[in-house]
Amino acid sequence: MSSSNQKTPKFPCVDCHTDCCKEYTIFVNAHDVYRLSNGLNSKPETFLELIGAKDYSLGIKVEEGLVDLALKQKNAACEFLEEFDDVFRCTVNDFKPGVCKSYPFEMKNGELSQMSDIMCPTDWDLTGFKEMMVPHLQKDESEWKFYDQLVNEWNLTHAGQPLSEFLKFMLEKVKLCLK
Ligand code: SF4
Ligand code: SF4
Repeated sequence: MSSSNQKTPKFPCVDCHTDCCKEYTIFVNAHDVYRLSNGLNSKPETFLELIGAKDYSLGIKVEEGLVDLALKQKNAACEFLEEFDDVFRCTVNDFKPGVCKSYPFEMKNGELSQMSDIMCPTDWDLTGFKEMMVPHLQKDESEWKFYDQLVNEWNLTHAGQPLSEFLKFMLEKVKLCLK
């Protein structure tokens, strides 16, 4: 419940040069791709890049190789990062990937905590962001579990087919689970 006495916690992003959007490869899962595809009204191929999979057991086995899915980059940053009057902003804020919303938080022993070695210029107010971040992190974790199971199913039943088929398979699974 909100009250007029509650203060909105300060977002360190306001005073930041969005280093996280420039330094990290943004890996995405099925729900991320579904939301981006709908939000942009674009095919996933237009914003996805294939990265060689680091984990053999979890990589997607497609005709193109053993891969993971990530957002494309432009000018050494995420392609959705744009500069307006010397300020960098995410242009897909309403449907940005779960990892972007999560950063720099994580759950540790059931408690909200800040990742170590963060790029943010200041520490975050964990108490102030708890109500917002805990449900998000729980949802994000379940979406990654769903994705891992989906990739596993694909690898067992469709390995070696083209990426375009995997993307159709993946989006269909998300649609079914959201019904
Ligand atoms: S590095 Fe931290 S403060 Fe800067 S934009 Fe990313 S999340 Fe925000
Ligand atoms: S989607 Fe938005 S928040 Fe995520 S890396 Fe790209 S610009 Fe940054």
